[in-house]
Amino acid sequence: MLSQRTFSIIKPDAVRKGYSAAILAEIEKAGFKIVSIKRLSISKAQAEGFYYVHAARPFFGELTEFMSSGPIFPMVLEKDNAIADLRKLMGATNPAQAEEGTIRKKFASSIGENAIHGSDAEDTAAFEIGYFFAGHELK
Ligand code: GDP
Repeated sequence: MLSQRTFSIIKPDAVRKGYSAAILAEIEKAGFKIVSIKRLSISKAQAEGFYYVHAARPFFGELTEFMSSGPIFPMVLEKDNAIADLRKLMGATNPAQAEEGTIRKKFASSIGENAIHGSDAEDTAAFEIGYFFAGHELK
């Protein structure tokens, strides 16, 4: 799809380890334009709102605790076929199963602390962009 937007987060584990710039470099090298980016920390309640689709999962507490454990870089990315292409660049949820060359293979340490988030569909991308960015930040 032509010039599509997606939403991504550099997660607290990757920020803590000093991988933020290296991950951004991978994203730019893959042809994504960084439309907007910010650095912030979120509360557990804010993480619960972001991940509400996972509320019934057994790892929900761990996930929201982790996502609120330190600074993150939420960002909006743009390129042709952005949603699918970012998922490919990220690699499998569990880094042990991620392909060579993917961000999770290079930078993630476990299925929970897996360095990066990327939207999985157009409707979730729209919700997630709106959760972190106002319209005037997305020109
Ligand atoms: P994604 O789309 O590849 O990020 O994976 P999912 O949508 O399935 O899960 C969302 C996020 O929840 C993942 O990126 C992980 O951070 C976390 N997660 C998924 N499975 C597990 C698990 O078994 N244990 C823990 N602690 N976290 C998990």
